[in-house]
Amino acid sequence: MSQDRSSSSKVPIVQTLLTANEEVAADNRLVFQGHGIKVVNIMASPGAGKTTLLLATIQALADRKIGVIEGDVASQVDADLIAATGAPVVQINTGGACHLDAPMIRHGLKALPLDGLEMIFVENVGNLICPVSFDLGQDLNVGLISVPEGHDKPYKYPGIFEAVDLVVVTKSDLLPYLDFEVDTFRELVHGLNPDAPVIVLSAKTGEGLTDWTTWLAAQLGTSAQA
Ligand code: MG
Ligand code: ZN
Repeated sequence: MSQDRSSSSKVPIVQTLLTANEEVAADNRLVFQGHGIKVVNIMASPGAGKTTLLLATIQALADRKIGVIEGDVASQVDADLIAATGAPVVQINTGGACHLDAPMIRHGLKALPLDGLEMIFVENVGNLICPVSFDLGQDLNVGLISVPEGHDKPYKYPGIFEAVDLVVVTKSDLLPYLDFEVDTFRELVHGLNPDAPVIVLSAKTGEGLTDWTTWLAAQLGTSAQA
């Protein structure tokens, strides 16, 4: 607290960045609404199974028009996997940044056929911390935690669990081999976010996958009535 000059000069800069991001996020939101597209922001650690779940989701909801925005620091390996399903996809490489921001999404949208889409999944950069702080213009936030990561993550990363509309526990096929306590995890999540459903699934075996696709279909149904 002794370095008053540095702290007082940093605060306005952060606020300016967030304001600029929020302006672009609001523009993105208008674009999505104008096309009747629901946008779901997927946040999780690296390796939690975001891309694997998206592949299973695209297959399970084959009658829905789904697009994907892939965010990674580098490479297009995930986008290549999505593209192989036939779903429209754009890869955003952040070039080092550990989260997506609204201007990146605005840029990526130019590569998607918005008129033909009902839903866009944004696979955020693998990171449980700062993606929460950057509005992209999405309708819904989903947090994924994989069984190998442990049920204690809500203690360590409360921000993401407070921000999400749904929590998905992935890799449930590993539950018999690991010490992930599902009931404890639910209690921790609901201590932070009482209204967030917790779905437990395995994209590999398909267990619990219909809970997830039913939730998604309900979100789409709401938008169709509006
Ligand atoms: Mg991925
Ligand atoms: Zn970041």
